[in-house]
Amino acid sequence: MEKNTFLVLENFIGGKFVPCPAHIDSYDPSTGEVYCKVPDSGEEEVDSAVQAAKEAFPGWSVRSPDQRAQVLNKLADLIEGHLEEFAQAESRDQGKTVTFARTVDIPRSAYNFRFFASSVLHHTTDCSQMDHMDCLNYTVRCPVGVAGLISPWNLPLYLLTWKIAPAIAAGNTVVAKPSEMSSVTAWMMCKLMQQAGVPSGVVNIVFGLGSRAGDALVGHPEVPLISFTGSTATARHITERSAPYCKKLSLELGGKNPALVFADADLDRCIETTVRSSFSNQGEICLCTSRIYVERSIYATFLEKFVAAARKWKTGVPSDPVNNNGALISKEHLEKVRSFVALAKSEGATVHCGEGINHPDLPNRNINGYFMGATVISGVADSSRVMQDEIFGPVTCVSPFDGEDEAVAKANGVRYGLAATVWSRDVGKVHRVARRLQTGLVWTNCWLVRDLNLPFGGMKNSGVGREGGRDSYHFFTEVKTITIQH
Ligand code: NAD
Repeated sequence: MEKNTFLVLENFIGGKFVPCPAHIDSYDPSTGEVYCKVPDSGEEEVDSAVQAAKEAFPGWSVRSPDQRAQVLNKLADLIEGHLEEFAQAESRDQGKTVTFARTVDIPRSAYNFRFFASSVLHHTTDCSQMDHMDCLNYTVRCPVGVAGLISPWNLPLYLLTWKIAPAIAAGNTVVAKPSEMSSVTAWMMCKLMQQAGVPSGVVNIVFGLGSRAGDALVGHPEVPLISFTGSTATARHITERSAPYCKKLSLELGGKNPALVFADADLDRCIETTVRSSFSNQGEICLCTSRIYVERSIYATFLEKFVAAARKWKTGVPSDPVNNNGALISKEHLEKVRSFVALAKSEGATVHCGEGINHPDLPNRNINGYFMGATVISGVADSSRVMQDEIFGPVTCVSPFDGEDEAVAKANGVRYGLAATVWSRDVGKVHRVARRLQTGLVWTNCWLVRDLNLPFGGMKNSGVGREGGRDSYHFFTEVKTITIQH
């Protein structure tokens, strides 16, 4: 009999690994081969996780913030202690380079626990006097109960821990469902839970498809809150499905993020950063730049220099440290991203590099992997689907603009509103433009610089609610106003 060499994941419920009778295949994107079997959980598994979380809630929620913080810090230590193991696994599961996983995903996952372990110690609540009524009013905040957390495949452990950490720091217990396409590091983290002193049932992880396990979690009447990061299309289902229960929702969704490059920008710095903001993690970051609007007087120079820099952005085997990008998450996703390039071409656009032009140099073993080079396109109409839809791959479009008003109008001319970057040395202009942009985040002369204390989230179709130090605390707690007359 053939030996089963697949990694077989199990759900983590009530502090124990629980096997699931059915599985989904998960692929190594760099080879196109199945390497892992993910539980195909449904209502039954989700319900037993919710019951375990409910049982754990009374004990966990009465611990002091300091006691909870100690557990979070220990988990951060353990993740850091296994950094290389986690980085290798994240790369194999997701397709990203080991370097990116080692320097971004895993350190940030550990830091998420450390950050919320610290920030939960420093929140205060409001108090107001009404002396004329002999009254004192104040607010208290209480954890909500069992939090349902659903995360995507692009930054698997990073985004999952960005939800688990604030949820449990605030005293909730959780049932989390990672993406079925990138579940391995979440499963590995379960092994560290006991060592970290996370009591049984405080964190439960149920693996499986969005349409089964995710749907069961969103539709579970005893889960009053859902924190979701993923696509705008899925958010619509979640909103509808949870509406009968009046659930508290946080939705972090897609983006179609513009960069506005004014003629007075520091061009070298702008190009170096904008190549990174367009292509990092194969362009599979919700914050990646996908529309670059350049002031007409410098458009030709910018395009030439930008294409030259993009050609140097290397795509190939994820474990090779010379590569900036690895493989895209799945065959279907690669085809979808390619179809946008084909659409642009059919509409008369120019493809300068990447798809169809420079083919990644791959060894035989990786020939069926889902690779695509950094692609720069110009000459696409603003109304094209290429400029309107989220592509979520290594594709960016460059287009000219005339004047501040047109730049802002073009930037705002999509249904999304997650992030924008503005490149100019004129402080007044930067402030004016930043105020007018309909995005939750504006980076000026930089990209992806984050202070986790401050709100993160999108406007319009990019989301509902904000995450961050105080915002996550507010989301994962209910506030109550108490009035005392004496
Ligand atoms: P997705 O919406 O397909 O899936 C996200 C998660 O939702 C997965 O765990 C999936 O299994 C689950 N899901 C799918 N259908 C469901 C349903 N009916 N009910 C409940 N759960 C369901 O998104 P994806 O393809 O995994 O991720 C890419 C998307 O995520 C992009 O649009 C990207 O912009 C977005 N994203 C946003 C942010 C942000 O912070 N704004 C961060 C990362 C990714």
